[in-house]
Amino acid sequence: MQYVSTRAASSPAASSNSQQFSDILLGGLATDGGLFLPAEYPQVTGAELDAWRKLSYAELAFEILRKFATDIPEADLRALTAKTYTQEVYRNARPDDDAARITPLRVLEEGNGTKLMLQALSNGPTLAFKDMAMQLLGNLFEYALAKQKAELNIFGATSGDTGSAAEYAMRGKQGIRVFMLSPHEKMSAFQTAQMFSLQDPNIYNIAIEGVFDDAQDMVKAVSNDLDFKARHKIGTVNSINWARVVAQVVYYFRGYLEATTSNDQKVSFTVPSGNFGNICAGHIARMMGLPIDKLVAATNENDVLDEFFRTGVYRVRKSSETYHTSSPSMDISKASNFERFVYELVGRDGDRTRALFHKVETHGGFDLSGKPGSDGDEFKLVAKYGFKSGKSTHDDRLDTIRDVADDYGIVIDTHTADGIKVAREHLQPGVPMIVLETALAAKFNETILDALGEDAERPQGFENIEDLPQKFVVMKADVEAMKAYIAANTGL
Ligand SMILES: *Cc1c(COP(=O)(O)O)cnc(C)c1O
Repeated sequence: MQYVSTRAASSPAASSNSQQFSDILLGGLATDGGLFLPAEYPQVTGAELDAWRKLSYAELAFEILRKFATDIPEADLRALTAKTYTQEVYRNARPDDDAARITPLRVLEEGNGTKLMLQALSNGPTLAFKDMAMQLLGNLFEYALAKQKAELNIFGATSGDTGSAAEYAMRGKQGIRVFMLSPHEKMSAFQTAQMFSLQDPNIYNIAIEGVFDDAQDMVKAVSNDLDFKARHKIGTVNSINWARVVAQVVYYFRGYLEATTSNDQKVSFTVPSGNFGNICAGHIARMMGLPIDKLVAATNENDVLDEFFRTGVYRVRKSSETYHTSSPSMDISKASNFERFVYELVGRDGDRTRALFHKVETHGGFDLSGKPGSDGDEFKLVAKYGFKSGKSTHDDRLDTIRDVADDYGIVIDTHTADGIKVAREHLQPGVPMIVLETALAAKFNETILDALGEDAERPQGFENIEDLPQKFVVMKADVEAMKAYIAANTGL
């Protein structure tokens, strides 16, 4: 399986730049600034789908991963997926969930031929769906680094979910250190405790005096020093990482197989979306031949994606136009994986994709509506890929959390509430709608308290997490001091 950049020159001479899975595993962007995608999508046959109905999650993950990671020996890949998708790792199931299923699916409501379902993806160590991919990434990284006898220092900034998922995936891993910046005293008490209570020697929590953007700017500044980056073997685990996207493809298959009894049936998915990583995996599953009807992107007040799927205009926001909402993991100003879909939409034309995303840099967006003066008319092709969208606000979130608690006795988190609100607008008779749960309510308790007047239940083991000893340093947003800190701790 060869991988190409979304910005690769379309001339045949350039196609020799294509790479294998292991080549792009540890990297981020392609050298031309694009994102990696398979040169073509592996296809899944009906016979395979039938056979996969009986598989465990780990076995299913192996079957899907082997189509993409063709340069990793199958026995190794099987061992890596078996080690990742276990009941020990994904154990934080609600009392009525069967943890052995890893991503249990349940029916919320059925009537008039429609069916609304919820797929649990937050049973991993940090109670959010990011664990589904990140745990595999930790094992893949350790494996690849051992083979190359190499080291990697992961350097990133987080406002909450990504940083903790990365730390729990990389803790104790050979050859890996994690330097994670977060805005000092700006995360929730729960999120702070989750990250800072890790005592592993390879985890470095750095609280930056400032807001998230200050932390993010530090990461950019350090990463722009290519010399420093190479010398200290700096890498990232952000949401554009291809292995993360592909690991997420697995639960779309799992959800489909659980919701259906025959491959003649279709399902739709609604996905609470921010950086377009999660729903991009759904798009890939659909391109592989999984019978998905609609893929519905649900956004919060930061509706960059909803705007595109309604109008064909992609308009990134300034940070002053980005709202801080009660579904904070979807508070994005631009969707970093969106380029993967746009590349598809413009017929896999790298020159076109490069020009469009150049326009994002220079003009803040592009317009594919086909109206006079627009940059193209490919918006008319969006329907072919099944995409729909919708938006949810703080009031919708509170209402949905209350409704779902009253009607089904389940307390959902704020992001999942955005998903359910939007999913209800897209129900179709005969096609089950699966909403992807992206976090557990305990992570966003402040809003649960507002909605229900009582605390969200915490899974076992998290009861007194705020009381655990915390390990972190506080630093000013000073790039040179940051480099000195990294250098002192990598010993490189
Ligand atoms: C990361 C995250 C999202 C958004 O996922 P994307 O892949 O960025 O679209 C939604 N909900 C929660 C809880 C998250 O942590």
